[in-house]
Amino acid sequence: MTHFEPQTMGQQFGRRSWAEPWKIKMVEPLRVTDRDTRERALDEAGYNTFLLRSRDVYIDLLTDSGTSAMSDRQWAGMMMGDEAYAGSVNFFHLESAIQHYYGYRHILPTHQGRGAEHLLSRAAIKPGQLVPGNMYFTTTRAHQELAGGEFADVVIDQAHDPDDPHPFKGNVDLDKLDTLIATRGAANIAYVSLAATVNMAGGQPVSMANAKALKALCERHEIKVYLDATRLVENAFFIQERELGYQATRIADIVKEFTSHTDGAWSSAKKDSLVNIGGWLAVNEWPLFEELRNQIVLFEGLHTYGGLAGRDMEAMAIGIAESMQDDHIRSRIGQVRYLGELLTDWEVPIVHPVGGHAIFLNARAFYPQLSQDEFPAQTLAAELYLDSGIRSMERGVVSAGRDPKTGGHHYPNLELTRLTIPRRVYTQAHMDVVAESVKTVWDNRTAATGLEMIYEPKYLRFFQARFKPRHG
Ligand SMILES: *Cc1c(COP(=O)(O)O)cnc(C)c1O
Repeated sequence: MTHFEPQTMGQQFGRRSWAEPWKIKMVEPLRVTDRDTRERALDEAGYNTFLLRSRDVYIDLLTDSGTSAMSDRQWAGMMMGDEAYAGSVNFFHLESAIQHYYGYRHILPTHQGRGAEHLLSRAAIKPGQLVPGNMYFTTTRAHQELAGGEFADVVIDQAHDPDDPHPFKGNVDLDKLDTLIATRGAANIAYVSLAATVNMAGGQPVSMANAKALKALCERHEIKVYLDATRLVENAFFIQERELGYQATRIADIVKEFTSHTDGAWSSAKKDSLVNIGGWLAVNEWPLFEELRNQIVLFEGLHTYGGLAGRDMEAMAIGIAESMQDDHIRSRIGQVRYLGELLTDWEVPIVHPVGGHAIFLNARAFYPQLSQDEFPAQTLAAELYLDSGIRSMERGVVSAGRDPKTGGHHYPNLELTRLTIPRRVYTQAHMDVVAESVKTVWDNRTAATGLEMIYEPKYLRFFQARFKPRHG
């Protein structure tokens, strides 16, 4: 596996051990623009990087969702698509890949992660029930609220502190959850929504011990635990690296042990699983599965394709297997860390420890002159694009949205700009260019004057909101 002793991997990381376990077979040219072009493009996009045209982007770190490069094996799988309406061969490949690697009994494909979140929320939440979670995720919480649920944050406090070095900042605070159960009653809790890793906290992992203890607590109260498994493979890497007793355990075995502490899961396969589209939902209990299988035909498609083509399911089945390989995940996270180490060496404020899929710039520390009503993280994403054409995204007050009860903004403690690294797409030289551009924006930080929101959509506003400069 590696010529390093497993215990020293953490220290050696990012120096020499993680070279990509693949070589490049096909390339896609990148377009470099000048500053005038970028100013025009950003103005047309309402200062929202989600509204830029990708041809105006140089290095695209908007998201790691659906942006991975597929392998030659996956492309070969695409040619083996069985496009039957029902009972496609590729569905059965996908079903056995999920059963084998994640260990759940019953599975449904969905067009992407939110399709699965929608079905599970409808089937498992009664209006008025609480849904405790280890921090929120945008689409997850939106579907829980649409189904009449109320999100309750039970992540440990350290997750909200960008500088706290806790190795498992995604952990559930079991005391918080226990108090919630005691005060609101187990019957008023729909289920616990556990995410591994926690995207909004900076891609922070959950420990195996925490997952196990959570399951034990929930079992005592007959509460189910459903897992957002979107980045569980990345989470498994951190367990292998940091949790006592797992240094010699294979990633695939860690994943399987982790899921054994949950009752079901959903996933956006556009992340860990190395495909451009797709998702799934899996549970162990039959009556719930029957309900989900019944609902899927209304919203996604028949239960053997769920909104996907046969070829998509084949690519996903192969991608799941590739994602579990230890050398794959080590180089994936190694690249993220490499960028983090450059920025840390230059004293640029980022969330520590560096998580699995992205570097999160601490926009509050960039722009202490801006209040959250002036959208510091959105401003930082705009400045970075203007400097170099690198596209990042906001994870702060815009993403947090409004409180459905009061109508006011949620004001999250974390005001972050995310540089999300697609899997198997960019090289180390791209990471150097990114780091240098971030450094330039950091050096010019005192000049920033913030943004004003001039259009706000009702749902998931960060995708489509428009802004203009406050002074300009
Ligand atoms: C992306 C994501 C989702 C939603 O999945 P989509 O495929 O984008 O619909 C859910 N949870 C997490 C943690 C995600 O990152």
